[in-house]
Amino acid sequence: MRVVLLGPPGSGKGTHGKRLAASLGVPLIATGDILREAIAEGTRLGQAAQEDVKAGRLVADATVLGIIETRLAQKDAANGFVLDGFPRTTAQADGLAALLGNQRVDRVVNLVVPAETVVRRLNDRWLCPGCGAIYNTATLPPKAEGVCDVCGSRLVQRADDRPETVRARLEVYERETAPLVVYYERLGALRNVDASGSPDQVYEGVQRALGKVAA
Ligand code: AMP
Repeated sequence: MRVVLLGPPGSGKGTHGKRLAASLGVPLIATGDILREAIAEGTRLGQAAQEDVKAGRLVADATVLGIIETRLAQKDAANGFVLDGFPRTTAQADGLAALLGNQRVDRVVNLVVPAETVVRRLNDRWLCPGCGAIYNTATLPPKAEGVCDVCGSRLVQRADDRPETVRARLEVYERETAPLVVYYERLGALRNVDASGSPDQVYEGVQRALGKVAA
């Protein structure tokens, strides 16, 4: 199954994408994670993307399409994938369609959540740099404060989750990415899911959107 998760920053794409990919037995491909890794490693890609990611701007379509082309060519993506944070522009969606050829995106799950909820969630979001687990101090806290339940690493906050950068990211989302809702609606692939509830409630909605029994 080939799934795209759509929705503003903080709508839960990473949290639900991880769970969904594991349940479907396909890889989760998150362009933001790939870019952050490249930045941390100081690769050429990382150096090129650094300024844009820091400011909450989109990285160039050609760069991101290159990342996706390489990643989708790997064996584990042959039977499907969950995409988180890609596509983010109609040019990227066209590029994805071209890469897939006669295959298609089966479902686009649009996580719908009000802007004020997103700002609060991003402020409360903590990540594990060791294993990528995502926490929320209000709704999904780690068992021990500041420490990952899974691997014991110290949790960190994302630099671009600061309120001023969050505002820029939300503007970019409205301008560049929200048009994809209509794009995928026209293709009959879109399902809207109310993403304002608890993680378990939202995940149930995601499962329903995919026509699967909640796991
Ligand atoms: P995310 O983790 O999805 O919120 O992405 C973090 C940042 O990485 C974004 O604010 C962009 O700067 C960059 N980024 C991630 N995915 C894309 C994409 N598909 N197109 C352009 N920039 C991206």
